[in-house]
Order: sequence, then C-alpha cells, then structure tokens
Amino acid sequence: MRIEILRVIPHHNSIVLKVTALHEGSYSVDVSKKFIPFDPLIDKVSDRPASLFIFIQPFLVKTKNDLILLDTGLGYNNLQGESVLHQNIKKAGYDPADITKVLMSHLHYDHSGGMVLDKDGKLEVSFVNADYYIQRGEWETAYSKNSSSYKTEIFDVLQRSGQIHFLDGDGKINDQISYEITGGHTQFHQVFLIEEDGEKVFFGADIVPEPEQLQRKFIAKYDIDGRKAMELRIKYGEMASENNWICLFYHAKAKSIAKVLKKNDAIFIKEFNG
Ligand SMILES: [Zn+2]
Repeated sequence: MRIEILRVIPHHNSIVLKVTALHEGSYSVDVSKKFIPFDPLIDKVSDRPASLFIFIQPFLVKTKNDLILLDTGLGYNNLQGESVLHQNIKKAGYDPADITKVLMSHLHYDHSGGMVLDKDGKLEVSFVNADYYIQRGEWETAYSKNSSSYKTEIFDVLQRSGQIHFLDGDGKINDQISYEITGGHTQFHQVFLIEEDGEKVFFGADIVPEPEQLQRKFIAKYDIDGRKAMELRIKYGEMASENNWICLFYHAKAKSIAKVLKKNDAIFIKEFNG
C-alpha cells in the first residue's frame, strides 16, 4: 500500500493576514462634543456652524490565531435599531461573536461607543467572546476626569463583564501584537503593531488619524499635548516608510488602509488593498 502525503508548501497565497476597514460614516462635532451623522449628499456644511467634520472607521485584522477589532467606533444603531458596527462586520464576512480581541487605543467616545450595544435602551457587551485590551491609565482618566469625551456608563457595563485586560505601559499581548503608550492625544493613548508572515500592520489611532497629516506639520487643538503629537506623527511616518508598514487611519476621508512612501523627502500615501 502506498501512502501519499500531501505537503503544503507555503507561498504568498497562504498568507492569512487580512485587513478590513469598517466604515461608520461621517459626522459633525461641535462644542457639545455630540457626533451628528453628516451625509454630504443630503446635509449642508452651513447648517453645522463651528463644527469639525470627521470620518470614523474601526478596523478588523484577521490573523492565523485571532480576529482583532481595533477601536470600536461610535456604536450607533441604524434606523432598524441594529448596530452599524455589527452589520459592517457581517458584511466583511464575519460574525461579531468571532472577534477574539478588541484593542483600544483610548476611550474617547468616538472610539469606545461600540464596545457596548444599545438594545432598546439597555447596554450590553458588543463582543461576547472577546478580550478587551485597555491601558489602565486611560481607564482611570476616563473615570476621574469630568469630560464629555468619556461616557462611563459604557465602561461600567464592560467592567461587569470580566472581559477587560488592563495593560500597563508598553509590551506585547502575544508574539504578534505589541503596544506602546504615546501620550500626545490623551496621556495614556496607545498604538498597536500586529505582525504576521513578515507583514506589519500599524494602528496609530488619534496620533495619526488621517494620512494627509503625515504630509504637513501642524498642531491640533484636540490633543492634550499638540507639540508632542506632532513630533510623534513625524516619528511614526518615518517608521512606517522605513519598515513598509500597512497603516490604518481611523479618521481618514479616503485611503484608510495605506502604505507610506518617502521619495526625496516628500511623503506619498499609497492605498493598500488586501
Ligand atoms: Zn478620534
């Protein structure tokens, strides 16, 4: 009897790593810090005085071992009362229950609202099978600072779930996922690097929220330390181009998944597909 052994030879088609942007739409924000949906096809900029216009997209990263969600968006429901985030995850071909890790850059409402679901006014954990990774200092800031950017009723639900893993400082979650405190935007804001099969995915969250911000120097009012945030943007922009990172831009208007190329001191953003 002959036994045939099928050998799987790894080549680049076997790469599992897959990155998806979960577009939650565009919003206007005024001094009230409320995020009001803004549809450029219907709504007028002139009707939203003194407002900042932003896009929001959490990201999914599929690795061999995990389905990772990077930040969770506002967590708004659509008119049918369903979570837009959950629907986007299903559209991407996954189930919300498949998510194994939720990595949180910081806890401002536009990043943390989707950690929970609003079911007829009752809040529940959004991802029942996931571990949520949160920087401890950020969590403490959220409770101690009286700021409309933090909604502690969300965090109460999560705390009761027993699904939180607090991170202290810089480190690694496993062989593939590392995290680093940046400060700048909030004191304990953190960024993540996910590595698999030689590819590296960088999530700079609100330190590098839009790709265009790598192309010009500026200081943002919404950062607690605008100068530090600016310097960090330069640093991460350089690292991204030197190390060929796939960068995820949470507040990008376009090119939310992109590589950063440097030619003769000029920076180019090249959209990355799969
Ligand atoms: Zn943000």
